[in-house]
Amino acid sequence: MPFALTRHPFPPRLRRMRLAARTELVSGGAGDAGFVRVRLQSDGPLDGFTSPGAGDHLRVFVPEAPEWASVAVDEAGHPTAPSRTETIVAFDAQAGWVDLDILVHGAVAGENPGLIGPWAARAPLGSPVVVSDPKGSVVMTGRPDAVLIAGDDSAIPAIRRYLRMLDAGMPGLVLLETAFDPASLEVEVPAGLELRILAPDRARPSAALAAALDALDAGDRPVGGAAPAEVFVFACGEQSLVAPARALLARWGIDVDRAVVKGYWKSPSA
Ligand SMILES: Cc1cc2nc3c(=O)[nH]c(=O)nc-3n(C[C@H](O)[C@H](O)[C@H](O)COP(=O)(O)OP(=O)(O)OC[C@H]3O[C@@H](n4cnc5c(N)ncnc54)[C@H](O)[C@@H]3O)c2cc1C
Repeated sequence: MPFALTRHPFPPRLRRMRLAARTELVSGGAGDAGFVRVRLQSDGPLDGFTSPGAGDHLRVFVPEAPEWASVAVDEAGHPTAPSRTETIVAFDAQAGWVDLDILVHGAVAGENPGLIGPWAARAPLGSPVVVSDPKGSVVMTGRPDAVLIAGDDSAIPAIRRYLRMLDAGMPGLVLLETAFDPASLEVEVPAGLELRILAPDRARPSAALAAALDALDAGDRPVGGAAPAEVFVFACGEQSLVAPARALLARWGIDVDRAVVKGYWKSPSA
């Protein structure tokens, strides 16, 4: 069955919000890694805010540690603070909130603890942020015959939204490079899809995903009800995943515009 990915641009918009709640989804990973759900709350409704696409993301400008009390802005009020891009998990524009699931990647042996992970884990409730609305949305309509979905922890929030759009019985493969139990991150894989959990190697993030994609040859292209099957590919993780994912698209004869392949972050060791 045909499906389409349509790109919708949104107007730029900055919003002042605050950390209203945090829920620890999972903890106890290496270097005390975990996942935290944060609720960002505005003083009023989020006029014009929407998120129709599974991979929709916004930018969060983070206040300065260790107080996390204010977000640096210039004279025009535009944030100059550092920012991170995060997937929209849920929102209620009328009630003025957005939920994000933030990986607290943990820091072992003097590694950089990061910016938004420590803020999500430890900033006091009420801590301010500035949020920049999604620049746009990629919306899937119709239904693919089969899927290949691959990602690391940073992509789990988007993968969860894509999986919720799929019907039971759709064939395909889900590759997750994660040390966490996917159920604790509310990942539910519809019946029919094969789930493979790949162990991350901290020194070579996304290498396990890349190897799994490299191992898929032309004959592994999922088949659906129609011939040729329409396969939707999502592959996002550390940026070294992009080249093997694009090579797979070429092997399977899939146009890059009909897939979502993206580097979500860049490892300093890459
Ligand atoms: C479109 C898009 C959507 C995204 N959605 C999400 C999301 O929903 N949730 C989410 O957590 N992230 C998401 N990311 C990644 C996000 O932008 C940040 O990279 C992430 O939150 C880490 O930020 P940080 O400030 O904690 O660490 P940073 O300051 O960016 O990095 C510090 C160090 O942490 C380590 N590190 C960073 N990220 C990872 C990782 N994924 N795995 C292992 N080690 C890591 C590296 O050693 C790095 O040097 C998304 C990125 C994009 C482009």
